[in-house]
Amino acid sequence: MQHERRSADTAAYPSVGLLIDGEWLGADGRATQDIINPATGGMLGKLPHADAADLGRAVVSAERAFLSWRSTSPLVRSAVLRRFAELVRANAEDIARGITLDQGKPLAEALGEVRFSAEHADWHAEECRRIYGRIIPPRDPRVAQSVLREPVGVCAAFTPWNFPFSQAVRKVCAALGAGCTIILKGPEDTPSAIVAIGRLFMEAGLPPGCLNLVWGEPAVVSRMLIESPAVRKVSFTGSVPVGKQLAALAGQHMKRTTMELGGHAPAIVFDDADVEAAAQALAAQKLRNAGQVCVSPTRFYVQRRVHDRFLDRFVAALATARVGDGLGADVTMGPLCHARRQDAMDALVEDARSRGAAIATGGRRLDGPGFFYAPTVIHDAPDDIRAMREEPFGPLGIVTPFDDAADVLRRANSLPFGLAAYLFTRSAGTAHTVAHGLSAGMVSVNHFGLALAETPFGGVNDSGYGSEGGQETFDGYLTTKFITHRHD
Ligand code: NAD
Repeated sequence: MQHERRSADTAAYPSVGLLIDGEWLGADGRATQDIINPATGGMLGKLPHADAADLGRAVVSAERAFLSWRSTSPLVRSAVLRRFAELVRANAEDIARGITLDQGKPLAEALGEVRFSAEHADWHAEECRRIYGRIIPPRDPRVAQSVLREPVGVCAAFTPWNFPFSQAVRKVCAALGAGCTIILKGPEDTPSAIVAIGRLFMEAGLPPGCLNLVWGEPAVVSRMLIESPAVRKVSFTGSVPVGKQLAALAGQHMKRTTMELGGHAPAIVFDDADVEAAAQALAAQKLRNAGQVCVSPTRFYVQRRVHDRFLDRFVAALATARVGDGLGADVTMGPLCHARRQDAMDALVEDARSRGAAIATGGRRLDGPGFFYAPTVIHDAPDDIRAMREEPFGPLGIVTPFDDAADVLRRANSLPFGLAAYLFTRSAGTAHTVAHGLSAGMVSVNHFGLALAETPFGGVNDSGYGSEGGQETFDGYLTTKFITHRHD
């Protein structure tokens, strides 16, 4: 592993603000929060927080905009989403640079996130023209029975800092495509991507009020928006504890919810797999976004006969990481997004050490400035160390042997999470049995194939409910209305 120092060019960081009813608002007496470059610890800018009056205006404008946006032709909504996708592609490099500056991931990964989000916008542009109702044959010939799918109303969305652009694009495109309007509270740590979404949607011709962007103290903003009677739908991506709080609050007010929460993905390698290829592929996934990915592989269950070989190859593959400022040309892993994650990683490693586990590589912060952490592999550890049960959300994995399919299924399914799972085997029978037996919203066999625009993304159990992407993508943003009409 190489660790590079490089000072970031922060001059290119965009100005950020609130977007309410089509108007950009700056600090202007509002409370602000520092935006920090996680690679250098340097300040990039100041983010204004919405006050209560701003939040109230955002709700009123979204409510008013809904009255007309809900009845626009799907062709019009599709054209706006399509135009947004084109603008995302045209501005991809600037948006990616902002993401690398405030989030930390390597520029190539940021660019991938942005381009991939354009595909999501295109997918929603296509699918929103196919939101159909149906006719149900009546019992009485004088009656016509129809089922309509109608937009649910004003949505409040809360998106995280790990994929600041793509997580928000998925929610915004699903809401707007369905005919809803939306108030988005993006991640305060990484606002540039969210501001770009607002700017490009305005340029794409989205009417004022259809998309409002607010920032602030997360718990205060989410409570105010969820309790507001005009808000009919809550969509959150983030940690399990916060998701449970927001779902409970939404439940008190009978609001629909989509919850994309954390994971602790098992990666299962059978002894008939291509062990080298599995180690390479899994190391690449572990390093992606410095492990700050809800579908990141974390528990590596390796069949006993190939355990040591996998461990060697996995550690060797992680050692090729070039860790540094994401603006560096050949950097493959950036810093953690904020200092809180370094503290969390230290605590997990310390717990593993105190329980007698071995650390094959890493297990330490890298010299500052910036919030860097070395790719870390724990092994020879009991199943109840904290890292085996708590989402590390960092470049940390635990390698542990297993004996047979029944043993590994029991252990893989032993946590309350149920987001992603990975499986490597050459046996079609093993793949079938284990893929069907895993308690997960998504299972990837012999490769990494999750989160495409055309495939549904979502979890089960504590990892939440509801799907984003795929043909399911509008389900959470539509209500079902039945009309029975007697025409004598
Ligand atoms: P956190 O739980 O404090 O925050 C996670 C996200 O939720 C942040 O974006 C934060 O702004 C938001 N949030 C927190 N409290 C909120 C509230 N009351 N209302 C609305 N939003 C709220 O943790 P963190 O240190 O920022 O992130 C680490 C943890 O977050 C990880 O362990 C991981 O489980 C989770 N996370 C998950 C995802 C995901 O894609 N599922 C993404 C980012 C973070």
